[in-house]
Amino acid sequence: MTDTPKPKVATTSLCGCFGCHMSVLDIDDRILKLIELIEFDKSPINDIKKFTGKVAIGLIEGGCCNDENVHVLRDFREHCEILISVGECAKTGGIPTMRNTIPLRECLEEAYLNGPTVHNPAGKVPNDPEIPLLLNKVYPCHEVVKIDYHLPGCPPPADTIWEALVALLTDKPVDLPYELIKYD
Ligand code: SF4
Repeated sequence: MTDTPKPKVATTSLCGCFGCHMSVLDIDDRILKLIELIEFDKSPINDIKKFTGKVAIGLIEGGCCNDENVHVLRDFREHCEILISVGECAKTGGIPTMRNTIPLRECLEEAYLNGPTVHNPAGKVPNDPEIPLLLNKVYPCHEVVKIDYHLPGCPPPADTIWEALVALLTDKPVDLPYELIKYD
């Protein structure tokens, strides 16, 4: 008799700080229960770099600030049955959207040419093709692909992530109590 394969979960960090991934790990010893329920696919948690196939759930941390973020997010949409924006950066763009009111050229000039601590004898803004191209502004994930669920918070508490994952993995509605989704 063969075991039923476990559903797979993939995670990624786009324009994020990895705080939301730390919150996933904050489920503490429930991680042992989680690995009874699922297998991790592409994720920085296990350092698997490419999808091994379709997965049940994708957790996205961070919004899209460059073309590589957009590519990775579309790849997740293609491979994940359910896609979840985890945290404010994925949900709204978060802190990185502070640059959205300033033209991109001005941001780059401040960072590489005019900032008070800049030392740049070449006097050029880096433009190597290997460097992901910055977008004109930072976009929340749902403006790039369809997102099925949003988990609020910076980061969302471990309990919020845990309850949402368990509900989805056990085919129950994601009906989180106020305490797990409040901002105050
Ligand atoms: S929501 Fe907060 S914790 Fe998560 S990636 Fe953004 S800044 Fe980091």
